[in-house]
Amino acid sequence: MGGTFDPIHHGHLVAAEEARWQFGLDSVVFVPTGQPWQKPFGVTPAEDRYQMTLIATASNPAFTVSRLEIDHEGPTYTVDTLRRLRDQQDENTRLFFITGADAVLQILTWKEPDQVLALAEFIAATRPSFDLDRLVNQVPGAAGRVHRMDIPALAISSSDIRARVARGAPIQYLVPDGVARYIQQHGLYRTAPGPDPPAPPPGSGTQ
Ligand code: ATP
Ligand code: MG
Repeated sequence: MGGTFDPIHHGHLVAAEEARWQFGLDSVVFVPTGQPWQKPFGVTPAEDRYQMTLIATASNPAFTVSRLEIDHEGPTYTVDTLRRLRDQQDENTRLFFITGADAVLQILTWKEPDQVLALAEFIAATRPSFDLDRLVNQVPGAAGRVHRMDIPALAISSSDIRARVARGAPIQYLVPDGVARYIQQHGLYRTAPGPDPPAPPPGSGTQ
């Protein structure tokens, strides 16, 4: 599973665990992006995103975190990462790329889509009513290589978590406790843009 993981949250973890179970995967490798070319500015340092991903996945023996992309200088492309991952496996290993359905089309129209589809099958996490076929039919060669995986709708996104931290809203239960602690201890996301917090009522104090 690739992602910016800025920060990793329970939506990512639910999708990864469900994919492991539904597709009988031996392990799920989380690959935090290095310098994402789609989001070159304002992304938290790779080391922080890597640490949070380690913390979030530590309790699951099937989950590992790879430094492949963050140790790679400059922009990285999914096709290059898949090639490197493929080189590390024996040739009979099936490689699946787990992604949210919203990101499938983007990934399959990146660099060398034919190669990307040849190197890995895709597991697209969708909500029950999502029309994945319409999306997959837009990409030649994608049929049969993109598998649908229905997961409970978790309306959690990293951007929302960043905005919540910036306005002082709680993120407990949206991210693992260790990730929430890391964010607090390292002062992450405090200056991310977000709406102003509601003014406290006059005379209110802590209870
Ligand atoms: P941002 O809000 O900054 O775009 P994000 O929450 O989408 O962040 P990413 O790191 O960009 O997180 O996502 C990595 C992968 O996880 C993508 O394939 C994305 O579609 C998927 N994903 C993100 N949120 C969820 C979720 N709530 N449920 C299932 N998959 C998700
Ligand atoms: Mg996203």
